[in-house]
Amino acid sequence: MRKSPNVIITGTPGVGKTVHCEQLAQETGLRHLSINQVAKDRECYDGYDEERKSWIVDEDKLLDAIEDEVLQGGYLIDWHACDLFPKSWIDLVVVLRCPSTSIFHDRLSARGYKDDKLQENLDAEIFGLLLEEAREAYDEEIVVELTSEKDDDVESNCERIVAWINAWKASQAENAD
Ligand code: ADP
Repeated sequence: MRKSPNVIITGTPGVGKTVHCEQLAQETGLRHLSINQVAKDRECYDGYDEERKSWIVDEDKLLDAIEDEVLQGGYLIDWHACDLFPKSWIDLVVVLRCPSTSIFHDRLSARGYKDDKLQENLDAEIFGLLLEEAREAYDEEIVVELTSEKDDDVESNCERIVAWINAWKASQAENAD
């Protein structure tokens, strides 16, 4: 039984996953597991997509690479997809959203996204694709949608997530008694 929960922080690229995970890691001691970084460090790739100019992640290899660590608990799993992680690994799924298209557009432009890549991510956010993916993959009661538009949102979201993590730990400790 895990003593500390595993929390997925997901959402369209640019929505604020890294900012939230870094703050939450500082506040909770949970470890920030950037799946982009893991895939890179452990070479979990299955070819290169020329059109998208990005590496294709080998999901089986990736899951094998992180399984032993993640099953110990205490991870903030940061990725723009979530339905590959087995349900039994995951205690909470946070889907970050940026409802303001203009704010989101500016963020993606600032990152250097252009044309198709920018439009694809804007559409994904407008249609809430990640939220749909999370709701299909996990039980409804563990999927939470939070707004990430302004700095204040980061503060209030982290407060809520910290409170949830503390409540989860307390209930696990109670069950263990
Ligand atoms: P992701 O990890 O989801 O791709 P990042 O955390 O890297 O997104 O955020 C992308 C950019 O948007 C960064 O410059 C970040 O500071 C900014 N950003 C994200 N969320 C917010 C927010 N709630 N308020 C202000 N700026 C934000």
